[in-house]
Amino acid sequence: MPTDLEKLVELQGVDLELARLNAKLAAIPKTIARIDAKLANARKRVEDARASIKAADTAKRQHEQEIQSLNERILKFRGQSSSIKNNEQYKALLSEIAHAEGEITGHEEKILEVMLTVDSLQAQLATAEAALKTETVEVERLKAEAEKAGEADRAAAAKAQARSRTLRKGVDETLLATYDRILKSRGYAVAEVLEHRCTACQFMLRPQVLSNVRAALEVIHCDSCGRLLYYLPEHNVKTSAVNLTGIAHQAEREWMFVPSMGTNGAFVVFINHKGNATMKAYDATTGEAIARRVEKNAICQSIFANEIRDARNLFVDEANLEDKYKDQLPPEVLDDLRHQLPNA
Ligand SMILES: [Zn+2]
Repeated sequence: MPTDLEKLVELQGVDLELARLNAKLAAIPKTIARIDAKLANARKRVEDARASIKAADTAKRQHEQEIQSLNERILKFRGQSSSIKNNEQYKALLSEIAHAEGEITGHEEKILEVMLTVDSLQAQLATAEAALKTETVEVERLKAEAEKAGEADRAAAAKAQARSRTLRKGVDETLLATYDRILKSRGYAVAEVLEHRCTACQFMLRPQVLSNVRAALEVIHCDSCGRLLYYLPEHNVKTSAVNLTGIAHQAEREWMFVPSMGTNGAFVVFINHKGNATMKAYDATTGEAIARRVEKNAICQSIFANEIRDARNLFVDEANLEDKYKDQLPPEVLDDLRHQLPNA
């Protein structure tokens, strides 16, 4: 691997960690606001209970004032009794007094009701105040925890930032600009090649591209996603062993455009499954099935190396397309595949 690419692999690790830390740090104020909101609810319950008690007290005082003015009225009625001239007037006076006394009883009942309500409100207030006290302690603890985690992350971010700067100094400027551009647009810029594929986009590499990446004499971009590719022989040991015995247990399929087949090229699916290599080709112009070959104990990458050499990858969403359309690809599938070709 060229040393620059090696540095980019490390730089990417550092840059991704830095981005992760920065995202975490940026989320701290939100976390704290969420914690504070929890406390605001507890505080509101206390305030609500206090307001209800105050309203009940006001109601009680109003009833007391009513009782006072009714008592004054009764006194006034009694004062008028000396000036009464006949029985009719006397009866009317007694009726007024009885009415006022009735009203007083009503207000006294209301006062009792309010006092019962106040008792239960006081209990509610005590509960809410206790909860607020507990939550205040809890919230302070959570906030301190968030701040502390933030401190650790800030320190780690500063360290990553410094490491990123150091690594950048050692990399060729043009390559660094390419790295930054891909990192910004695609999330990460350097991708390892495993089992003939770019691990970022899962496209199978053409043999020539694969051998260039392996040789590592120059920086190679993935044909499909444009990321910078690197290859670690130690990670690919197992793959080679599997390929040597010719057994791929997992079905592996790849659609490609092969220019050398058919009248004007062909859409071909290559399948490695249970040690068998299968190739099925459809004419790119007519969509007609034109060839099918199955080789036992083989893998497509070697048995169909000639076809794959100049092929380009296609994106096919639907699994088992070749089983569904055994003799002829329908126009909509053909259209979709043709649109993936350059000059389409
Ligand atoms: Zn790729």
